Amino acid sequence: MTAFDDIRARDERYHMRTYGRLPVAFVRGEGALLWDSAGKEYLDFLSGIAVVSVGHSHPAVVEAVRAQVGTLTHVSNLFYTEPQTLLAERLHHLLGWGRSFFANSGAEANECALKLARKWSAKAHGTPRSAVVAALGSFHGRTFSTLAATGQPAKHGPFMPLPAWFAHIPLNDIDALEAAITDETSAVLLEAVQGEGGVRVATPEFMAAARKLCDERGAVLVIDEVQTGLGRTGRWFAFEHAGVEPDIVTLAKALGNGLPIGACIARDEVADAFGPGDHATTFGGGPVVCAAALAVLDVIEKEGLVQRSAAMGEHLVALLTERLGDVVVEVRGLGLLVAMELASDAAAAIVTDALAAGLVVNNVAPNAIRFAPPLVVGKDEVARAVEILEPIVRRHA
Ligand code: PLP
Repeated sequence: MTAFDDIRARDERYHMRTYGRLPVAFVRGEGALLWDSAGKEYLDFLSGIAVVSVGHSHPAVVEAVRAQVGTLTHVSNLFYTEPQTLLAERLHHLLGWGRSFFANSGAEANECALKLARKWSAKAHGTPRSAVVAALGSFHGRTFSTLAATGQPAKHGPFMPLPAWFAHIPLNDIDALEAAITDETSAVLLEAVQGEGGVRVATPEFMAAARKLCDERGAVLVIDEVQTGLGRTGRWFAFEHAGVEPDIVTLAKALGNGLPIGACIARDEVADAFGPGDHATTFGGGPVVCAAALAVLDVIEKEGLVQRSAAMGEHLVALLTERLGDVVVEVRGLGLLVAMELASDAAAAIVTDALAAGLVVNNVAPNAIRFAPPLVVGKDEVARAVEILEPIVRRHA
């Protein structure tokens, strides 16, 4: 029995079967490379799912975590810790506004945003508003309320009834948005680029309409940047592409480069609706994850990874289009969040073959491959990835 066979057999016996897994156990990573239990090397063009933005085992992040875990790992949020305070300050300066609440995941960051919007609406309008408008095709998490917010009815099925506060409208349909926002709406919750929805970009017109309608009707605009935030799309925040500013932003994936941290950042006047006891978490914003996040933000800045994401993303799209444009339907995306739409539902087969050939990508839809490499990925690695993929895609075309 190989080491992998052993891991798989024990996992299948002892772990819940919530993941449709591919037949690899990874043991090590560095930059945009991964190694499996047999020592085989892979190019990582998924980075978790847009998580490991500064690359696997980045020395600055490793050192920050090592130093913090050996100094202070945890105290209750009943007390101050410097890393948490510094991270909140840093995010304030990155956005130019706001106060942070730190959670442990993207779903939790969105839970915080939804609770805050409800509490704020009570303060702003005298009575709490419960309704939330979100987009079809969106993904906001797997807890009951973030699942309800997620605009993918197929994921709701087995878990009905879900909280009934959510109305879903087609992405980029301004008329539908206008009709859905009512006097009961506390928040409009949107992704500027739908990641799980297949890398679908919200138009600047749609985002501007959302901003205007929220202002007119007294709702907050929440942008879920869990997948898109911190340079992934070639800007610090994906909403910058549309030129709108939200009232609340949620972050997670890239913030800890793989350590579990989420953030809900709200403008002061919205954040002030929360008082002591309204929201809390045991682990959220602990010293180790906050030290990691501070190091991540340093690396993104010092290594110019936002600009690099924009440039490498353009390069990846151009190369995929040049080499495979004749057999695929479309290559789309922003920065290093890219999808290649196929002419048939061959994405799962292509992902499996690519993995066997040493390239990690993901089937974001039955007919679409997603690319989200670390932002530190090099031009030669982009070329190698396309080199590996071309014959596989042609074989399945
Ligand atoms: N929001 C978006 C846009 C996401 O892409 C995800 C995860 O893929 C989530 C929320 C949920 O994040 P988590 O899995 O950390 O709860």
